[in-house]
Amino acid sequence: MSSDPSTIVAFEKCPVYASAAVESAVRAAVDAVGGIRAFVQPGQTVLLKPNLLTDSTPKAAITTHPEIVRAAIRLVKEAGGDCLVGDSPASVIKHERVWERTGMRALCDEEDVELITLELGGAREFRKDRQVFDVAQRVLDADVVINLPKVKTHVLMSLTCAVKNIYGCVPGMAKAGLHKQYFNAADFGRVVASIYGVVRPALAIADGVVGMTGNGPSSGKPMPMGFVAASADGVALDRCMCRVLGLAPRAVPYLSVLRRRGVGEHDDRRIEVVGADPDSLLAEPVALPNTLRSRLIPSWLGRLFAPLLWCRPTFSDSCVYCGLCVRMCPADALTQKKGEKPVLEPKQCIECCCCHEVCLAKAVDMQLSPMFQRMADRDKCLK
Ligand code: SF4
Ligand code: SF4
Repeated sequence: MSSDPSTIVAFEKCPVYASAAVESAVRAAVDAVGGIRAFVQPGQTVLLKPNLLTDSTPKAAITTHPEIVRAAIRLVKEAGGDCLVGDSPASVIKHERVWERTGMRALCDEEDVELITLELGGAREFRKDRQVFDVAQRVLDADVVINLPKVKTHVLMSLTCAVKNIYGCVPGMAKAGLHKQYFNAADFGRVVASIYGVVRPALAIADGVVGMTGNGPSSGKPMPMGFVAASADGVALDRCMCRVLGLAPRAVPYLSVLRRRGVGEHDDRRIEVVGADPDSLLAEPVALPNTLRSRLIPSWLGRLFAPLLWCRPTFSDSCVYCGLCVRMCPADALTQKKGEKPVLEPKQCIECCCCHEVCLAKAVDMQLSPMFQRMADRDKCLK
């Protein structure tokens, strides 16, 4: 066990998004990791970074619920911090529509807090491990960043929680550009890890009241999980979230990279879990992404059989012909005629899962090639 407060992960039960219940659970979780004054000093500018992936309502469980953000705002104000709420949604949808649909505009008006898009205000370029990426200047200018992720499984990264939520600090369409450049899961995991290495929020408060399972981050199923969790160490928090969801940390590419780089706590014996028991939070097993097993195949094997191992989108009849996936595809692999489903040019597809991520009609399924499926099925070890 650790006596280091930076590696404590606190879980608090919270069955509903009622304002008072959420505020009480968030306060208890933050108190258990040192209290808000350990992270925020009077007069500091504090950026709250929820997951505002796209223009969906809180009920869809894709984005961080406004009540979690409200609780964080109130804590920061109590500590004397100046609050901002900001994100850069993944889709090409105008951010004002995202703010309206996610409830963030109404919340920030009610709490008298500025809501900012991270696409405006410039960006700074970083290089790490032969990869190049931008981080929004507004994030770098904040004295403190508090991370407010949603707990979800993820078709490309297996998990999105504290570390992956920081990918939203890459401004606007630069995110799609990174998907195009670093398209396989291992390379994309490296760039996610590098962005986390630059931003490093002081505190993460995860929204697991209703999470998402299956083919997240947008096409999975909302699942009542009934908790919030907090930690100063996003890596420790994500490792605990793997435990809650029944995921192997080695199936989460950015966690493997951060372990190699020595960022965050990866030794479960040194992570002190307090509050609710993470092993008994969920009443039933979690549905994992259908692509998960492919993440566990050794990379040398993947390289050897690369042409026969692919993971590409198919489009179901749920398609409402909105064209969003076609506009988002960083590889121009999709075409679409009016009133018809998108058509994939397989040779162009870089398997980045962006089309899957943006489709709110849940019409995009990422399918493994038959060989990939057979190899993945043989690796039954998820834990
Ligand atoms: S697959 Fe989804 S995002 Fe693409 S056109 Fe159809 S509904 Fe729109
Ligand atoms: S079709 Fe989908 S998975 Fe393929 S490159 Fe385009 S967005 Fe990525």
